[in-house]
Amino acid sequence: MIDAYVITRLCQDCLHGDCVDVCPVDCIVKVDGEFPNQLFITEDCISCGCCVPECPEEAIFAPYDVPAEYEDDIELNQKATANRPNIRVPSRLDLIEMLQRKDSAA
Ligand code: SF4
Ligand code: SF4
Repeated sequence: MIDAYVITRLCQDCLHGDCVDVCPVDCIVKVDGEFPNQLFITEDCISCGCCVPECPEEAIFAPYDVPAEYEDDIELNQKATANRPNIRVPSRLDLIEMLQRKDSAA
């Protein structure tokens, strides 16, 4: 777990989700029913770094590289994904729904 990369709160309402497509171990996940507009990384992360350049929001960091203002997100990724039955790899539809929630809240 300690080596898993971290998605920070900069990930909000992203439509394209290219990070999901490049992850070789499918460890970038959505948590159903909670945290509806952000994705997280599970402990299955192999720290390959492939997802980092794919994120337009620059929301993904190595655990040792998380900026101080986002340090809370390290624990949030762990809490959001540990021992939960309601996590899954998001589909395109999930990402579109995230954007629709953003539009309706605007
Ligand atoms: S660092 Fe690699 S394994 Fe970890 S979430 Fe990113 S793409 Fe997936
Ligand atoms: S590409 Fe970045 S902003 Fe988009 S879902 Fe992935 S981590 Fe979030």
